[in-house]
This record gives sequence, C-alpha cells and structure tokens, in this order.
Amino acid sequence: MIYIEKKEEEKLVELWEKAKKDWGITPDSLLELVKHGVVYCEDYCNSREVCGSGACFCIREIFPSRDCYEVYLFLRELHLEGVEKELFFRILKGKINERKK
Ligand SMILES: [Zn+2]
Repeated sequence: MIYIEKKEEEKLVELWEKAKKDWGITPDSLLELVKHGVVYCEDYCNSREVCGSGACFCIREIFPSRDCYEVYLFLRELHLEGVEKELFFRILKGKINERKK
C-alpha cells in the first residue's frame, strides 16, 4: 500500500490536472491500455480514498495528465462499443494535434 500525506497528495493531483500538454505516452501504448483496460488498485488504496478513483496514485502513475486519462476513458468507451481500430487512431491523432496547438 502506498501512503502519501493528504496535503501532498492533493498537491500532486493539482499538478496532474494542470499537466495539460504533457502527454508522455505514445498513441500505441494508449491504444494498448484502451484495448485491455486499466487495472485499478484492488485492495484498500489510501490515495483513492483521498482523490477518488479517477485521480488516485495508480491512475496518475499510468497517465501523465488528467487530459490523457480523459482521452483514455473516451476511447475505452468507444472500444467497448466496438469501434474499429483505424478510427481510434484517427481520433487519437486529432486529440494529440489539438493539444499541440
Ligand atoms: Zn489507487
């Protein structure tokens, strides 16, 4: 179990949410995550208690920014609905370019 002080944790979440342009994840690895889904912390997670499951340590470890995580959620939903891989890539590229502007 990872324990981070509440104040410290809140600061980290804030930084994470502000890290708009910091993707640091390739479209390919994001696509892999989209295909297989993210494994959320199974046991008690202090971080989740403080930040909620959408921003806990485990999520922030995987996704460099909230932006990135939201794109993941969006694509994951499409994936579950059965959208084709090619279309994925197009949407993903669009999202990344959007943020580079
Ligand atoms: Zn967690």
